[in-house]
Amino acid sequence: MADFVGAVDQGTTSTRFMVFDHGGREVARHQLEHAQILPRAGWVEHDPVEIWEQTRAVVETALSVSGLGAADLAALGVTNQRETTVVWNRRTGRPYHNAIVWQDTRTDRIAAALDRDARGGTIRRKAGLPPATYFSAGKLQWLLENVAGLRAAGESGEAVFGTVDSWLLWNLTGGPDGGQHVTDVTNASRTMLMNLETLDWDDELLSFFGVPRAMLPRIRPSADPVGYGVTRADGPLHREVALTGDLGDQQAATVGQVCFTPGSAKNTYGTGNFLLLNTGTEPVRSNHGLLTTVAYQFGAQPPVYALEGSIAVTGSAVQWLRDQLGVIADAERSEALARQVEDNGGVYFVPAFSGLFAPYWRSDARGVIVGLSRYNNAAHLARATLEAICYQTRDVVEAMEQDSGVRLDVLRADGGVTANELCMQIQADVLGVPVSKPVVAETTALGAAYAAGLAVGFWKSTDELVGNWSEARRWEPQWTGEQRAAGYGRWKKAVARTLDWIGPED
Ligand code: ADP
Repeated sequence: MADFVGAVDQGTTSTRFMVFDHGGREVARHQLEHAQILPRAGWVEHDPVEIWEQTRAVVETALSVSGLGAADLAALGVTNQRETTVVWNRRTGRPYHNAIVWQDTRTDRIAAALDRDARGGTIRRKAGLPPATYFSAGKLQWLLENVAGLRAAGESGEAVFGTVDSWLLWNLTGGPDGGQHVTDVTNASRTMLMNLETLDWDDELLSFFGVPRAMLPRIRPSADPVGYGVTRADGPLHREVALTGDLGDQQAATVGQVCFTPGSAKNTYGTGNFLLLNTGTEPVRSNHGLLTTVAYQFGAQPPVYALEGSIAVTGSAVQWLRDQLGVIADAERSEALARQVEDNGGVYFVPAFSGLFAPYWRSDARGVIVGLSRYNNAAHLARATLEAICYQTRDVVEAMEQDSGVRLDVLRADGGVTANELCMQIQADVLGVPVSKPVVAETTALGAAYAAGLAVGFWKSTDELVGNWSEARRWEPQWTGEQRAAGYGRWKKAVARTLDWIGPED
C-alpha cells in the first residue's frame, strides 16, 4: 500500500491540500485564498468555479513541491466549510449562482417564518437544528425562488444541489462526464433536510422548503470503503485515487482531535468557533441552544452524534480590526497590541455581526462595543476582541454542561487563533479549566485523512489514531474565581445590549 493519505480542506477563506504519513505527521501542503464576494450588507458569496480551480491548483502544487505523486496516496479525503450552498447544472457543470455562504443572512425572513408556526418544532425534532439563516435549506429555498428557471430544472433533476463537499467530489470524479453526486452524513446533517435518526432526506422537511428530491445527493457514511468514486486521470491527480473520506470541517476536526469517546470535546478557533462534544451513538437533544449533529459514521458502524456550539464571529472579528478598522496590519499583531494594556479597561465587544449563534440564536442582534470612556484606546479594543472569543466560548461551554451533564476537565483547542498565546491564556482564565493544543494543529485536514485512511485499512482502528495524538502546549487558569465571575457578569450585560436591534422595519 502507498505510504500517505491526502486531504482537501476547503474552508471559508481558503482551500488547502495536505498529505499525512502513517504517524499523522504532515508531509506536504499548499494553500490558496479565494474571494469573499459581499454584494450587500449581510450577503456573503463564493464563486464555486474559483473554489474548484483553487482545489485543482493546491493539489497539483502540493504534490509537485513535495516530489510526491498520486501513486503515493492510499486514499483521499475531503472536508469542507459546511452549510454553504451550491446549485449547478449536471450537464454543463456550470453553477446557476454564486455559492451562498453559511454566514449569509439574506434568508432571515425565511428563518423567522419557520418559528412562527409548528414547523420550527418539527425541524428541531427531526433535524436537530434551530431555525436560523445558518443552514442550507433556507439558502436553497431562496435560490429556487430567485433564480429564473431553477425550480423547473431542479424538478427534472438537471439542476442539482450540494454543499461544497458534493461540488468538489462531483468535479473530482469527472463532473459532467460521470461525476458522482454524493455527500456524507455529517454534511447532510447541516442542511436541515436530513432526518437525524433515519440518516435520509425527509419528505416533510423537503416540503417546508419546497425542495425537489431529484436535486439532492446520495448520503454516504463519512468513511466509506465503497467510496465516493475515484479521481479521474484528467483531473488534478492525473490518475485514479479512491475517494473514501468526506466530513464537514468541524466534524473532521473532531476526528483529527481523536474525540472518539462520549464526553470528549474539541473547540476549533477559525473564522468562527465550533465546539463539538461527542455524545455517543444516540442523538442528545439540546435545551440550551446547542445543535444536535452527526459527528461521524465510519463504514457500516452506527453513527456517532455530537452536541455542537457554533459561534459565527471569532477570528473574523480579528480580521475586522485589520480590514475595517485598520488598527492592526495582520491578525498576529492583535496579540502585541492587546499586550500593551493590563486588562480591557472596562471595554466589552460583542461581535454579533451576523446576529448571535449559539447559545442565543438571535438574528435580531447586532454587534456592540460598550463600556467606553475617554481613557480607552485601540489596545483595549484589541483585548476586548480576544476576550470576546473566549467569553463566547464560555457561553457555549456552560450550555454544553447543562445539556449533557459533562463537566470539561480540559479544553482541546485547534485552529488559526490558537497561535495567539494571550488569547489562549485568557481562554483558560475565563473558563477556569486548562486549554490544550495538539502537535498537529491542522486537525481538520488530518480528520479527513483519518476517515479516508480508516476506510481503506491504511489505519486499522481508531486506537491507532489516538496513539498519534500528542500535546504541544497547555495553558493553566490564573484568574481568581472573583475575577472570573466579575468578567463574565459584565460580558452577559454586554450581550443583553446587542439584542432586539434589527426589527421588522429593517
Ligand atoms: P478558517 O479555517 O475558518 O479559514 P483558520 O483556522 O485558518 O480559519 O484561522 C483563520 C482565522 O484566525 C482568521 O479569522 C484570523 O483572523 C485568525 N487568526 C490567525 N492568526 C491569529 C492570531 N495570531 N491572533 C488572532 N487571530 C488570528
